[in-house]
Amino acid sequence: MKYVLVTGGVVSGLGKGVTASSIGLLLKACGLRVTSIKIDPYLNTDAGTMSPFEHGEVFVLDDGGEVDLDLGNYERFLDIKLTRDNNITTGKIYQSVLDSERKGDYLGKTVQVVPHITDAIQKWIERVALIPVDGKEGPADVCVIELGGTIGDIESMPFIEALGQFSYHVGPGNFCLIHVSLVPVLNVVGEQKTKPTQHSVRGLRGLGLTPNILACRSTKALEDNVKAKLSQFCHVAAENILTLYDVPNIWHIPLLLRDQKAHEAILKELNLIGVTREPDLQEWTARTRVYDILHEPVRIAMVGKYTGLSDSYLSVLKALLHASVACWRKLVVEWVAAGDLEDVTAKEAPDVYKNAWDLLKGSDGVLVPGGFGDRGVQGKILAAKYARENKVPFLGVCLGMQIAVIEFARSVLGLHDANSTEFDPETSHPCVIFMPEGSKTHMGGTMRLGSRRTYFKVPNCKSAKLYNNDSFVDERHRHRYEVNPNMVQQFENAGLSFVGRDETGQRMEIIELPSHPYFVGAQFHPEFKSRPGKPSALFLGLIAAASGQLDAVLQNYGHASKLLPNGIGNGKPTVKTYQNGNAIKSSNGSLNGVYSNGNGAHH
Ligand code: GLN
Repeated sequence: MKYVLVTGGVVSGLGKGVTASSIGLLLKACGLRVTSIKIDPYLNTDAGTMSPFEHGEVFVLDDGGEVDLDLGNYERFLDIKLTRDNNITTGKIYQSVLDSERKGDYLGKTVQVVPHITDAIQKWIERVALIPVDGKEGPADVCVIELGGTIGDIESMPFIEALGQFSYHVGPGNFCLIHVSLVPVLNVVGEQKTKPTQHSVRGLRGLGLTPNILACRSTKALEDNVKAKLSQFCHVAAENILTLYDVPNIWHIPLLLRDQKAHEAILKELNLIGVTREPDLQEWTARTRVYDILHEPVRIAMVGKYTGLSDSYLSVLKALLHASVACWRKLVVEWVAAGDLEDVTAKEAPDVYKNAWDLLKGSDGVLVPGGFGDRGVQGKILAAKYARENKVPFLGVCLGMQIAVIEFARSVLGLHDANSTEFDPETSHPCVIFMPEGSKTHMGGTMRLGSRRTYFKVPNCKSAKLYNNDSFVDERHRHRYEVNPNMVQQFENAGLSFVGRDETGQRMEIIELPSHPYFVGAQFHPEFKSRPGKPSALFLGLIAAASGQLDAVLQNYGHASKLLPNGIGNGKPTVKTYQNGNAIKSSNGSLNGVYSNGNGAHH
């Protein structure tokens, strides 16, 4: 096993996660099998309890692990399936050491950060690197490890010490350290400043780690004299200094790295020259070009709780993007704060109310994403009602599907107080109820998490076709509540079809309104398994319906590829993802200012 460690210096939010994923992709393109580990030096055991508002979305894995959103980047770029153990946190490491201590495993010794915590970190890395994640047997060739936070953070010290020992232990030729840093440009003359990187590399060395490669974020390519200076002061060969300059979208990063021969530098450090092939990024390049030249917009209203915070719904945005690129449409996300659609807003802030409704009505499709808590529920219900009544394409994800069911119960079945018991435990028409998989009395651990199977009950429905007419599909879940199975007949009699269910037939997984062009809800989160070249079926359905291509996609059993004109254009890369007409500004300024890596907690 060979290891590539990616660290970050100077400031947080440099796009370390995207860089690490891109390096993984580049190595994969050279024919290597790649896995990855993300280290988050915070004390939480996992991301399950962390607010998406503060830390970006909670990404869910097949095994039910609730992890940092960077693992989503790895899964998407490398098309792999990670496990919960691929996300190491300080909390997990300490918990394992403390458990061992209680069992008496340390034979009466004083338990210390060095060597016990640092040994536990190294053993964890070695163990997890061996887990196959690409569907093939046996371990990968290379494990990309991303250390969250910035060099110098107190909380990452035990990890730095452990990784220093680890690099010594696996030996030269098996370990390559890539340090991602910032080269700011000051004043109007536009001078590229190397001092922050010099300091950061000095800090790294002081902690026992030697960088093999520098990846410098800057607005433009580094000038030769700047590279020479960095090389001299940081003791890194000039050909091992890469520039991550600003690009129109993150799919360019692997191409940027390839063009600078990053793979050659890495393969040399890892003693793999001659073992691998030239990187094959043909398909990736073609898709990136398509993304660049898209101009015909598809407007999707995102009716959510956190608006304007792209990290909070990162996977949903990525899934929308993958589907849009497959349909040759430029994604325009209209953020609609659910609360702004409500009657109270009409009274308190009429302008805000009008603006929210204008955005909703100006959209080609409506998406209500997942969520917890009752804030904005009424607004989401109004959005679902609007989409249902006006035949506007609609996709409800998890809470979004529950919302669609509540709306249908109220408007069509006439059950005015119908609700989820999550929001109104006393409702006389509980159409969404708490249905734990385990014991009803057992507190905690009641969330239905990770991959579960959905069987299609109606073979020719839209969702089945979108899923390639397969008889079942495995998707990821993260919820406690479910549609009340006792009310399903009543709904179906009124025209709401429960086309996908679990193996018992008791849990409703996919809803559809056959009389509507595209009105679909899923209890699971299809966004977590969407990939750039393999858009998630239900998202593809939404975008295809919103751009007048659904029939063609359905005839093609959920594949948009035949829609693509032959020969990909070579227009200039000028396209950005837009929200409400403005280019998305990432909350912590990651790579291209489009999406960030969500490490806002490590400043
Ligand atoms: N709050 C809802 C539930 O627990 C929906 C969860 C979600 O959207 N992820 O079932």
